Formats: sequence, structure tokens, C-alpha cells
Amino acid sequence: MADFLSESQQLWLDTVNRFMDHEITVEYVRRCDTNRDYPYEAYEKIANQGWLGLLFKEEDGGAGGDIFDYTLMAEALGKFGFDFAAAVLVPTFTAMNISKYGSAAQKKKYIQPFIEGKIRFSVSISEPDAGSDASNTKTRARRDASGDWIVSGQKLWCSGAAARDTVIAMLVRTDPDNKHGGLSILLIPNDTPGLVINKLPTLSRHATGTTEIFLDNVRVPGDAILGEEGQGWKIITEHLELERCSVAGGYVGNAQTAVSTAVRYAHERIQFGKPLWDFQVLKHMLADCQTQVDAARLLVYRAAQMASQGLPCSREVSMAKLYGSETLKQCALTGMQVLGGYANLPEADMERYLRESIQSTIGGGTSQIQKTIIAKSMRLG
Ligand SMILES: Cc1cc2nc3c(=O)[nH]c(=O)nc-3n(C[C@H](O)[C@H](O)[C@H](O)COP(=O)(O)OP(=O)(O)OC[C@H]3O[C@@H](n4cnc5c(N)ncnc54)[C@H](O)[C@@H]3O)c2cc1C
Repeated sequence: MADFLSESQQLWLDTVNRFMDHEITVEYVRRCDTNRDYPYEAYEKIANQGWLGLLFKEEDGGAGGDIFDYTLMAEALGKFGFDFAAAVLVPTFTAMNISKYGSAAQKKKYIQPFIEGKIRFSVSISEPDAGSDASNTKTRARRDASGDWIVSGQKLWCSGAAARDTVIAMLVRTDPDNKHGGLSILLIPNDTPGLVINKLPTLSRHATGTTEIFLDNVRVPGDAILGEEGQGWKIITEHLELERCSVAGGYVGNAQTAVSTAVRYAHERIQFGKPLWDFQVLKHMLADCQTQVDAARLLVYRAAQMASQGLPCSREVSMAKLYGSETLKQCALTGMQVLGGYANLPEADMERYLRESIQSTIGGGTSQIQKTIIAKSMRLG
């Protein structure tokens, strides 16, 4: 895609790719998956590069990068598996809500420590009865006489919430009589007394981890609200656009590695006296995959460019998310077939890419929900 990216964008993508190859490595990412270890060391290395602050404004201590830069970073971070990218993307795209909606006190408290890697963020939207229908949030926050919030309920699938020093941006119901306008965001540190967080034994996302959270009259300071009371749905809708654009970049990075790994294997593996690559049926399967990866990448770059320019782009972002995740799934499945029995072993990495792909068409809004958003934008004539 060298001719699509500007020289500086290509340089940036190459820089993060090189960093992944030399400073992180696929072996490290694989080990974190096998042991279900959060990648603390890698996160610190990324913080030391200053990349956690990529999207923050320069006056807030950030690098002043745009969403395209961020999406390119996501592509490179995803190259050894999407779970690793999630460990960096979830905190960074969640942190941008503080930049946009935080009070002066919240910005002072959180932004610099976040950029330095001292705290992390995770986002907690989903609940047992609020998945695709996220506005069905029931976790209830009421103010008591002191002005503090008292929160009760259950959240589900909150990725990264069990990692140390994490602040959870939690969607809660502050008004039961107003479906969308009765939602707010509270910033709740994960060591808040009364909060119970359990890591879930999921098929994917072993390293970043995803969790269930129980709250039983948990006390949260009154000033922990992000933005205004009742602004939660607006904040989350904007949040999801940035999330979907960047995760789509991560899926493309992961899908490219799945294809490249399968191509390399097809050249090395000899059966019937010749490399697998000589069997046209396999070559065509991989040609289809590379075509899909290139198409997904172009959709992602278009969405990222429009988002960077501040243009309305929920349709384009949904197309990128939909096609990026489905491409990752198709490429990992094809990779499993090309690698034969070997694909089943952790050291082949393909089964991990397949596991990540299964999550990719669900998390951040399922493929069906992306299609619903795209269809809504299609008008007659
Ligand atoms: C590993 C993992 C990590 C996650 N991380 C986070 C996180 O950090 N924070 C967070 O808040 N959430 C997170 N999620 C939750 C994720 O966003 C939800 O799983 C997702 O939105 C789908 O909700 P659901 O699982 O309840 O499925 P449901 O909404 O019950 O959907 C089940 C099926 O029905 C389909 N469906 C539902 N409604 C419609 C409709 N209107 N039209 C057509 N089809 C429909 C869906 O597409 C899906 O195929 C994570 C999930 C996973 C698996």
C-alpha cells in the first residue's frame, strides 16, 4: 500500500512494525497467550516510546497524532495477534474520552499518568442483558445525600479490567425513565472497595483478559462522572467509532500475518515431492486471502482518513470493522487448512489467530450490527 500512504505515514507504519519485530516478538505474544499473562513489560516499552499519548493534544502532553496515525499503529500492533493490540488499544481509545469530555481536574489527574504508562483504562458497556442492545444497561447509579454515587449491578466482558492500576469507564443508568438519555459514564478505579472483578476463561483474549464485574452498593465519588449526567450514550457512540476504526486496523495486521505465514509454510512444506505452493488449489486459496486483506486494508484506510478529517463516517467505519474482522476469520481458517495438522500447535500461531478472529466479529459490535448500521445509511435513489 506504499502508494496509498504518504511518506510519513509509511515511515510511521514501518517504525511500529520494526518495533514489534525486534522489541516485542511473536514468541512473547504467544507466551502471554499460553500463560494468560497480561503483557505488562510490552505495555511499559510502548509507554516509553511515548505512543500511548499518540492521539492526545500536544497541550495535554500528547503527540497530536490523528486517527489515521493511530489506526496504522493498530495495524502494526496486531501483527502477532489481535489480543496483543487490544492490550494497547482498549486503554488508549478509552482514554480519549477523558481528553474529549473530562473535567479539568480529571484531565490533570489522569492524562499524564496514563501517557507515562502508570495507569490504564478499560471500557465497560456490556451487561448480561445488554449486549448488542447496549442501551438496555441496568447497572444503577444513584447519588446519596453526600453527592457520592452508589452503584449496583453487573457488567460483563470488560477487557483489561483485571490488569493492575486500571480505571474502568463504566456505562451506568442514572435515570430509569429515559432509555438513552438516562445513561452516564463513571470513572471507577478497579481497586475500588466492593468491586468484584473475575477474569473469564474465554476462547480468545487470553492476555488482555476479559472480565465480569459485580457491584453491590459500591461508593464512587460524585466527581467521577465523565461529562454531564445523561451524556453516556453520546460519549459511547463516539467512542465506538474510534474503537471500531482502530480495531479494524488491528484485524488487518493480524490477517496479513496469517496469510504471510501460510504462504511461507506452503513454500517450505514438501509433499508428493514438491512444495505445497506448487498445488494450484492452495495458491488460489491464498491469492483470494491476500485480495481480501488488501481490500480490507483499503476500507480501513478510507475510514481512518475520513475520521481524521472529522467527516461523518459511521458507515465507512462499520464497513471497515465488518470486512476487517470477517477477513481475519477467513484468512485464519484458510491458514489452518494450508498448515494442515501443524496448525493445531501453539507454535504455529494459526490456532491463536483463528481464536482471535472468532472474537473479532463479536466484540465492538457484531458483524450483524455493523450490517444494520451500513443498511441504515443506504437510501433509495
Ligand atoms: C472477548 C470479548 C471481549 C469483549 N470486550 C468488551 C469490552 O471490553 N467492553 C465491553 O463493554 N464489551 C466487551 N465485549 C462484549 C461485546 O461487545 C458483546 O459480546 C457484543 O456487543 C455482542 O453482545 P452479546 O455477546 O450479548 O450478543 P447478543 O447481542 O446476544 O447477540 C447474539 C447474536 O445475535 C445477533 N443479534 C443481536 N441483535 C441483533 C439484531 N438486532 N439484528 C441482527 N442480529 C442480532 C448478534 O449479531 C449475535 O450474532 C467483549 C466480548 C468478548 C467476547
